Amino acid sequence: MSEIQDKMFQEIRNKKIFNQVQEYSFEYLESVFDRNVYPTDEAIKNLSVFEEELSVESTSAEEVLKQLNFYGSPTTTATLGGRYFGFVTGSAVPVGLAAKKLGTFWDQAPAMNVLSPIGSKLEAVVEKWMIELFNLPSNTSAGFVSGTSTANLCSLAAARYRILQRNNWDVNEKGLRNSPKIRVITGVHAHSTVLKAIGILGLGKENIEWVPVDNHGRIISEQIPELDESCILILQAGNVNSGAFDDFEAICRKAKKANAWIHIDGAFGLWAGAVKKLKHLTKGIENASSWAVDGHKTLNTPYDCGIVLCADREAMIAALHMSGSYIVESEERDGMFYTPEMSRRARIIELWSIMKYLGKKGIDEMILMMHKRAKQFAKEILEIEGFYVENDVVFNQVVVRCDSNDITTNVLCNIQRLRECWLGGSVWFGKKVMRVSICSWATTEDDISRSVMSFKKALDLELEKQKVIK
Ligand SMILES: *Cc1c(COP(=O)(O)O)cnc(C)c1O
Repeated sequence: MSEIQDKMFQEIRNKKIFNQVQEYSFEYLESVFDRNVYPTDEAIKNLSVFEEELSVESTSAEEVLKQLNFYGSPTTTATLGGRYFGFVTGSAVPVGLAAKKLGTFWDQAPAMNVLSPIGSKLEAVVEKWMIELFNLPSNTSAGFVSGTSTANLCSLAAARYRILQRNNWDVNEKGLRNSPKIRVITGVHAHSTVLKAIGILGLGKENIEWVPVDNHGRIISEQIPELDESCILILQAGNVNSGAFDDFEAICRKAKKANAWIHIDGAFGLWAGAVKKLKHLTKGIENASSWAVDGHKTLNTPYDCGIVLCADREAMIAALHMSGSYIVESEERDGMFYTPEMSRRARIIELWSIMKYLGKKGIDEMILMMHKRAKQFAKEILEIEGFYVENDVVFNQVVVRCDSNDITTNVLCNIQRLRECWLGGSVWFGKKVMRVSICSWATTEDDISRSVMSFKKALDLELEKQKVIK
């Protein structure tokens, strides 16, 4: 036995490092809900300890983990807690963290059924659950990917395949040179990952036919150009700033008649469809051809977890298929036919666990709660002079600004420095804004009020500074 092999068997036998990590994890969980949401400057400075040459000699496992925990834990952002409102991040449902831990030990790659019967089974089951939850066509396929970026990419790849195939053009064989034309139509507020996918797939961002949006960020239906079967129309469930939803009911009916491919980027917003009181927002999505949605945002699975759903199973498989003499295809589900990767981790373990744990009622309750907290935030912030809410809070997003771009920028900077909560900025119809995204199961009413107080303090600091300058 080699020295390093012997050492590794010892780690397994004595379990010390696993207990050590367990302890670190529990310590982390105990503090993360109430600590500074963003790491301190000092903690970040200390990250310089990692700047070292790769050592020649092996380091003890305890030492490796100790360094990771000591310097790493304080420099995480507290996205697991209730006062992280940046991007659309989402916490993690506890059972998901626990299941992921078990899944870590299993170390499965659900590429093929023979590689992981459990992974394959859970994927097949959750595919059915998704179809039912979002009321999608019964033959819809699901691919379990790293996030909506990849889900958008896969969807548009399927669209590209199908549109060209209808013209007797196999894009996998012939590529795009001299291919029949594909038209791409989307709103001016489309998420940049949609544009990235269009770029990667060779559809060309310059070829996009842009549709203007109304002051909520929704595509103006009347301004969608005449569609035909060479079109990919990309809609949005959840505008990344305002949380607004396109009018799927009207748009999809018309686009479907024209035989256009309709893709819906519903990274965080598609989940509104699983909530009784919010379902009206996603009305009509069942008429689309593909959908992209994240587990790791609104559903609060751990990162990385996205789902690509496609009503045209054949197109999806044709776009992502691979084979080889050593591949074992089974009667059961082989996950790699629905994802760009062959090997990938079995993220389905967390996704299945969280869906089973919550059930339909729990999903409904958790997501409705996020909506209510967003409403609460908007109400409380409007009670403070100097803050304005720029959007209709239809889901989980609140767009806030102050009296001028400069004040908004400085106040945001103060909020971030106070570390009581964290959020980012954006631009909304030419104005600098603060973007509050409420998507953690852990956010309480008190978290909202505490955060609003931090906004107030940040504004007071800015007004104080202005007085001094004058
Ligand atoms: C977050 C987001 C994406 C990208 O999703 P990832 O999971 O980060 O890859 C795409 N579209 C919208 C609307 C989003 O909010």
